[in-house]
Amino acid sequence: MTDTMFRAAVVEEFGPTLNVRDVEMPTPGRHQALVKVQASGICHTDLHAAEGDWPVKAAPPFVPGHEGVGEVIELGPGNHTVSVGDIVGNVWLWSACGTCEHCRTGWETLCNEAEYGGYTVDGSFGNYMLVDTRYCARIPEGADPVEVAPILCAGVTVYKGLKVSETKPGQFMVISGVGGLGHIAVQYAVALGMRVIAVDIADDKLELAKRHGAEFVVNAKHADPAEAVQEYTGGGSHGVLVTAVHPQAFGQAIGMARKGGTIVFNGLPPGDFPAPIFDIVFKALTIRGSLVGTRQDLEEALDFYARGMIKPTVAECTLDDVNAVFEELRHGKVEGRMSIRY
Ligand code: NAD
Ligand code: ZN
Ligand code: ZN
Repeated sequence: MTDTMFRAAVVEEFGPTLNVRDVEMPTPGRHQALVKVQASGICHTDLHAAEGDWPVKAAPPFVPGHEGVGEVIELGPGNHTVSVGDIVGNVWLWSACGTCEHCRTGWETLCNEAEYGGYTVDGSFGNYMLVDTRYCARIPEGADPVEVAPILCAGVTVYKGLKVSETKPGQFMVISGVGGLGHIAVQYAVALGMRVIAVDIADDKLELAKRHGAEFVVNAKHADPAEAVQEYTGGGSHGVLVTAVHPQAFGQAIGMARKGGTIVFNGLPPGDFPAPIFDIVFKALTIRGSLVGTRQDLEEALDFYARGMIKPTVAECTLDDVNAVFEELRHGKVEGRMSIRY
């Protein structure tokens, strides 16, 4: 390595503005690789991280970004299953212990010792990043780094969310929130044979959902989504996946669900929502949270992409645009995903 510094967008203190400046080149430790980043998606989670929105906070200064794609240029000590020159990705589940009850039972996403990319470990909003080679993503050959990046968080998260919804082919699935996560969720749900209904508060997002295969859409600003979905489906949707960034959408999910249905929460806006006990009991609803996905989920999610069944709607930007993109995300103005090209 000749360079000792590189440019990155840093959260110096909680707030909406990142500082693009020089940071020091890290040295890969055991099981780690140094990666020259080619692209990184900008997830709404990065905005929550920068603003310190959640009860468990990152510790400034830190570099966000957990949809990073790049080339391995140096390996740390130990044996590795990736080689210099391989194209890999960092993810939210940056590493896990491999030995706790959650790791042992196929729930590594819940590991007590997990490290999170762009949160507890510096992420992909910079020209270089570290990955743990045991947990990093392997990017399908020939993929455009800008286009594949959103699969690393948005894609795997909604793919897993759809799986745990237990909704079957031919059944209805509501995707509430058609942003970075939601527009990919529509595509996975279609690919899995579900009948997709999309709900958002912006007509352009609903148009995007239709382009990706939603058969019915509801603008929750202008219509009661529970009423509209109950009527269209004749009794409610079997599955509801909430990726929206407003707590209101979480409460509305209960009204959209069918008796015996399953609601999965992926979105993570700060706050609470009122939950009607009577409806949950009398409709025998299952409500579950879902956090990103395991390495196996990630392989599967990337395989859908590699086989052309999923194609994120992505516009590219530069590292210096990151604050402007945050501003757009805050106001729901991003279509699909914005991805930094380095
Ligand atoms: P985004 O900003 O790209 O999309 C959010 C969408 O929600 C927008 O289309 C917006 O119009 C819509 N929306 C806002 N208010 C709404 C309402 N009342 N009803 C319906 N739709 C509404 O964000 P994103 O990157 O897709 O992330 C979405 C959320 O998911 C964030 O809170 C993020 O932190 C979270 N997330 C969770 C996981 C996980 O593992 N569970 C992983 C990634 C992201
Ligand atoms: Zn994310
Ligand atoms: Zn563990």
